[in-house]
Amino acid sequence: MSKIARIELYHVALPLPAPFYPSWIPGLPQTENRFDLIKVTTDDGITGYSACTAMGRERAGLGEVLGPYLLGEEATDIDLINQRVREVGYVGQRQGWIEPAFWDILGKKQGKPVYELLGGKACKVDLYASTGEVKGPEERIEEVQARYEEGFRTVKLRVHDFDPDMDIRQVTETAKAMGDKMAIGVDANQGWRVTVVGAAPLWDMQRAKYFADACADAGLAWIEEPLPMDAYDDLAELTAYSKVPISGGELNSSGLPELAMMIKRHCLDIFQPDACFTGGIAQTFKVAQLCKEHGLLYSPHTWTNGIGFAINLQLMAASGFAEKKALEYPYAPPGWVIEARDGILETPFTHQSGSLQTPTLPGLGFNINEKALKKYGRRFFVMDKKRLVWYSIKNRGIKVSLEVDKARKKRMDQS
Ligand SMILES: [Mg+2]
Repeated sequence: MSKIARIELYHVALPLPAPFYPSWIPGLPQTENRFDLIKVTTDDGITGYSACTAMGRERAGLGEVLGPYLLGEEATDIDLINQRVREVGYVGQRQGWIEPAFWDILGKKQGKPVYELLGGKACKVDLYASTGEVKGPEERIEEVQARYEEGFRTVKLRVHDFDPDMDIRQVTETAKAMGDKMAIGVDANQGWRVTVVGAAPLWDMQRAKYFADACADAGLAWIEEPLPMDAYDDLAELTAYSKVPISGGELNSSGLPELAMMIKRHCLDIFQPDACFTGGIAQTFKVAQLCKEHGLLYSPHTWTNGIGFAINLQLMAASGFAEKKALEYPYAPPGWVIEARDGILETPFTHQSGSLQTPTLPGLGFNINEKALKKYGRRFFVMDKKRLVWYSIKNRGIKVSLEVDKARKKRMDQS
């Protein structure tokens, strides 16, 4: 038994060495890698972590729901944790991102990496260099050449021009310059289109088909998110039409039911659910298994932070798809560098000539660098049993608190 004894939430902001302009939020100079971190400690002293991207302090009040829902529950009962995560969702945001922290605990308790818990084996994972900024053809070719020299053999470009022919120029000229040396994918970031700072082009079916035809002529490997992530009919039509495989699904936050429906309808050729957004490890692993059953491909999105990368790396190894597909490696110097991406991990996920060996550490495969967490993280919530008692009395009064406690104890004794 490993009962949940303490829940802590941190807001982490790791400075980037240079401003980074993500293609997915046009006009925004990103100066920090920001995310929220959950640390769960059990009564037998195991700690589990997970993390999710944060814009600002949007999860400031989250602990007041998580603490009372989770404290005292069995941390290694993943089904129960998923039930609690679902319940938390009823009151607002979906919080599937916390679920991997409990796989971390389960793996540490059993002395096994999570991919082994899911039936996978240690393996070498090929990586693709995921660029993050919009660039013109000349600059892009230089960047792709630099990644090639570092050992990468697959790269993903970003297209975000208002003129469709400029997008096509970027991909065809890069493909021509690299010849057969590099497999090239391209991301249009239309799945979750953001216009909060600058304007962003809006694709429709006509533009997507026009682009797909040009990419087929240039021999591109995949087209990612050419249409909104929930335009299921259009995605299925485009996937049937395009000679280049269509990919997506990184942010379909309804998780397994939605992605299973998309698999059955063949909305995409390559599914890229990111467990931090698509309901956690248990649901996303089932998506990968369904892809296999339907003869489709799976290769998760990983662009959040070092912990998000670690979580999806475990799934890639568990799924068996590492033999067939490269995994996204978020890397766009001079702004988005490994030291800032993985800045609170003891050992960053540094690639070796475009690939890496799965970690052998139990759980999610990383240790937290406590010094770095202290420096770049700010704890905004902590709750343990004692604090929960005070919290409950303050909010509900002694009489109701005792009644709730009694009912909870009875339920736990029965289970
Ligand atoms: Mg993407």
